[in-house]
Amino acid sequence: MSEHKTYPVPETIAAKAHITQDLYATMYRRSVDDPEGFWAEQAERFVTWFKKWDKVMDYSYQADDLYVRWFDGGKLNIAYNCLDRHLDSRGDQVAIIWEGDNPEEDRKLTYRELHAEVCKLANVLKSRGVNKGDRVCIYLPMIPEAAVAMLACARIGAVHSIVFGGFSPDSLRDRILDSDCQTLITSDESVRGGRHVPLKKNADTALTECPNVNTVVVVQRTGGSIEWTEGRDIWYHEAMANAATDCPAEEMDAEDPLFILYTSGSTGKPKGVLHTTGGYLVFAAMTHKYAFDYQDGEVYWCTADVGWVTGHTYIVYGPLANGASSLMFEGIPNYPDVSRFWQVIDKHQVSIFYTAPTAIRALMRAGEEPVKKTSRASLRILGTVGEPINPEAWEWYYKVVGDGRCPVVDTWWQTETGGHLITPLPGATALKPGSATLPFFGVVPALVDPAEGTLIEGPGEGALVLMRPWPGQMRTVYGDHARFVETYFRQYPGYYFTGDGARRDEDGYYWITGRIDDVLNVSGHRLGTAEIESALVLHPHVAEAAVVGYPHDIKGQGIYAYITPMAGIEPSDALKKDLVALVRGEIGPIATVDIIQWAPSLPKTRSGKIMRRILRKIAANEIDTLGDTSTLADPTVVNDLIDKRANQ
Ligand code: ATP
Ligand code: MG
Repeated sequence: MSEHKTYPVPETIAAKAHITQDLYATMYRRSVDDPEGFWAEQAERFVTWFKKWDKVMDYSYQADDLYVRWFDGGKLNIAYNCLDRHLDSRGDQVAIIWEGDNPEEDRKLTYRELHAEVCKLANVLKSRGVNKGDRVCIYLPMIPEAAVAMLACARIGAVHSIVFGGFSPDSLRDRILDSDCQTLITSDESVRGGRHVPLKKNADTALTECPNVNTVVVVQRTGGSIEWTEGRDIWYHEAMANAATDCPAEEMDAEDPLFILYTSGSTGKPKGVLHTTGGYLVFAAMTHKYAFDYQDGEVYWCTADVGWVTGHTYIVYGPLANGASSLMFEGIPNYPDVSRFWQVIDKHQVSIFYTAPTAIRALMRAGEEPVKKTSRASLRILGTVGEPINPEAWEWYYKVVGDGRCPVVDTWWQTETGGHLITPLPGATALKPGSATLPFFGVVPALVDPAEGTLIEGPGEGALVLMRPWPGQMRTVYGDHARFVETYFRQYPGYYFTGDGARRDEDGYYWITGRIDDVLNVSGHRLGTAEIESALVLHPHVAEAAVVGYPHDIKGQGIYAYITPMAGIEPSDALKKDLVALVRGEIGPIATVDIIQWAPSLPKTRSGKIMRRILRKIAANEIDTLGDTSTLADPTVVNDLIDKRANQ
């Protein structure tokens, strides 16, 4: 799309921001010219070390000798950094605000209370034989105990592997086996949108095939009835009642593993991403403070689930390392009604709000009224993550939710990257709706021509790679270093390949165009899915759109669009015609949509991302080879789309 609006940094934001435009430029240059000096300073500023590192960074991006190490020789403990060091200065400040699924239920934990809970659970785990380096699986709802469990593991050096509470017994089993967890922390049930989900029952089913699990710690969330395996299962509240509140924080090496987390599975079988301790914490704390311009005393709310990396870095580790008050939400955006997010913002006086495009698009469908009836005066900064955000949705978020006052930080990053890599900084970056804007400190993105393998200079479009490591980078795929090398370092030797495509404009701003595997090649022209979808959702009758390529005799690939109409809109041929014309007008005649299929809903991962690889299979009529569908939120959507597949 040719014309892009630019929103300058609001003066009120710049006036008290940590990072202003000039400072960003100076710091960024330094971070690239003198990474060792730069990161040594940041590591001192953001983290309390038991012992300083010997070497700031050491790496090789060569496929036959691939390694990344940060702050080698340094000793620290993450739970100590998130809790103990705050006790003198902010022990009575709220660390976690919990908002239940039911609007009547909430809870607050101060840093002192959270510290005591974490120490107790750490002692419980120890008493069950959990040692440094052992893997602990966490399968919990969004309750404070999830954060307690993560920090208790970190305190004793156990490696946590969180499995999203919405996953099935099979998905849980596969993840437990892949990382050989011998301890599981779960709850009787979870509550979402007023419905109870039997977590313990799911866990019991999964564990019939996980013979190595010898301890299951069960949090009582609802009191629903569950089965009990004597000797293996222990109640959280009973064990905690007898546990001591002091537990020394284990001295961890900077490169000791902190957690394993499986990716969302948008492109295939999930990968067990391994993150380590020192670099991850420096990067989590620094990105949290600067990308959200977090100011002391503010209430900060990230709506992600701790089952995703966003929950790890931006609900727990980043905010708590910075001494923030982090809101944790058990529920969903439309329960009891579609005003819920905005009501919670008013109730807890949230300053910074971070959510996903999928939620924004869904709430947009409900119109402005549910938003406008709330105040939202406490809001200062808005953020998004997870998928490219269509400019249309961005504008709505900015104007309706933020009343045109709050910068929107569109943060591009991945499970693999540990934290934000391309993101605006509220006090420094002029915004362009739909662009993740500029690289974070120390991050050196580049675009590679996928056909030639050569670097693209200046404005252009290609495969997005990173030229050098940053402290939050994953270190390996757990138990499968070869897959790490193959997935990220084989295709473009010497670089980390993100799997995403991007465009860089004349101002050096990055626009994520979608997964590179999803990029269409129409008559020799490369078209990103994000751009075509953004054009489609400009139409007032379109709620959501997903675009894929399909084999086309003449063009090589044709454009196949799945369209979810707005509630109450009848699909029609006239609307199809309008949409085809709209996309041609926005992008050009090359972007002529060949086939439109109406889709009441789209297949999404449990983290809310559209799974285009499945849509591609349906469009190509290759329905026998759909691939891994275990991370789909609602598998029935797929059958429905297959039944109603458009005739070609
Ligand atoms: P898998 O790697 O298993 O296929 P996944 O890539 O969906 O799953 P995540 O690590 O949760 O797993 O998601 C990272 C991806 O999400 C990025 O590579 C990118 O495609 C997309 N993404 C995240 N944030 C943004 C953003 N702000 N703009 C555009 N895309 C984004
Ligand atoms: Mg990915």
